[in-house]
Amino acid sequence: MTNWDEFGFNTRAVRAGQVRSEEGEHSETIFPTSSFVFESAAQAAARFSHKEQGNIYSRFTNPTVRNFEQRLATLEGGERCMATASGMAAIFSTCLGLLKAGDHIVASQSIFGSTVILLNNILAKFDVKTTFVKLTDLDSWQAAIQPNTKFLFLETPSNPLTEVADIGALANLAHANDCLLVVDNCFCTPALQKPLSLGADLVVHSATKFLDGQGRCMGGAVVGSEKLVGGDIFAVLRSGGSTMSPFNAWVFLKGLETLDLRMQKHCDNAEALAQWLVKQELIERIYYPGLPSHSQYDLALRQQSRFGSLVSFEVKGGQEAAWHVIDSTRIMSITANLGDTKTTITHPATTTHGRITAEQRHAAGINDGLIRISVGLENVEDLQADLLRGFK
Ligand SMILES: *Cc1c(COP(=O)(O)O)cnc(C)c1O
Repeated sequence: MTNWDEFGFNTRAVRAGQVRSEEGEHSETIFPTSSFVFESAAQAAARFSHKEQGNIYSRFTNPTVRNFEQRLATLEGGERCMATASGMAAIFSTCLGLLKAGDHIVASQSIFGSTVILLNNILAKFDVKTTFVKLTDLDSWQAAIQPNTKFLFLETPSNPLTEVADIGALANLAHANDCLLVVDNCFCTPALQKPLSLGADLVVHSATKFLDGQGRCMGGAVVGSEKLVGGDIFAVLRSGGSTMSPFNAWVFLKGLETLDLRMQKHCDNAEALAQWLVKQELIERIYYPGLPSHSQYDLALRQQSRFGSLVSFEVKGGQEAAWHVIDSTRIMSITANLGDTKTTITHPATTTHGRITAEQRHAAGINDGLIRISVGLENVEDLQADLLRGFK
């Protein structure tokens, strides 16, 4: 087998993991099959008893899914990747694989809403408790760690305020306390940030976002060592059943082929939009790690190759002004999703963060005038004109 580590990122993104069939097809093959046929009863027995490696059933392994897993593993710099039915399935499988009743998690308070619900409401039923801390406050992470803490969990940059966590420092803290560091690398993708190389133990992904990048399929992945991912986490997936479909794996394979290209253009557009927003009168505050005025610009510069596609800003005039800006757009999609070629615009206070109290929201910095944009691949001048209509 090819050692993909010797090749550049884009070569791996285009080619890693592909095994051609005897038909000699150029593009990757989809294997839409639930089960696999054995040559004999003896071979079936050998596969089931693990004496012989090979496919049995697509809940366990599927060639198209494996192709995606191997490609993403080498892009993240991990030994093993496991694909899942969604990003939440990746996080849930990781939790079920690593935890037992009585265990504890320390998580950033600035994480995806469904992840908060999973940790707070669902895992709590099984006596797994989570302490939420401020992403950028290393002391509060340290103070929250207990003897039964199994892992630290974060996203960086955070959504929607683009706070940046020091992955290396948090990995050291986790390891000094006998815990693991799990990073949701959804916003940067391996094209911009490689948490495993900074010391994290596991990366989780919502492939639904930038890995597909075109808003077509649900999927997720966990990447890390053979021991962690191939052991308890695979066992959960195999029997828990939240596997990725071969068709979706094929879509994500095609997404990975253009991942770096797309991420570079997302960053070009986001940087241009952020620099333009700074000059607009109606803007009260802007959040983008690529602006030297961002409080963690130096850390972002060190840890990421570029600054990503999420840009948030606060307009003067609260919710009314924010809604006016959003409703005046003609190109941007008003949707809470992100990571698409199509630019999306969201009012966090009344959507993604609408279920928490106004006090909690303001404490978290999600003010009523805040707008979040996931900058797509349209012409940036058109995006500026789209916003300018509402700024008037
Ligand atoms: C969307 C998202 C998820 C969940 O992924 P799904 O594919 O929707 O299940 C997890 N983490 C982050 C940061 C996300 O944006």
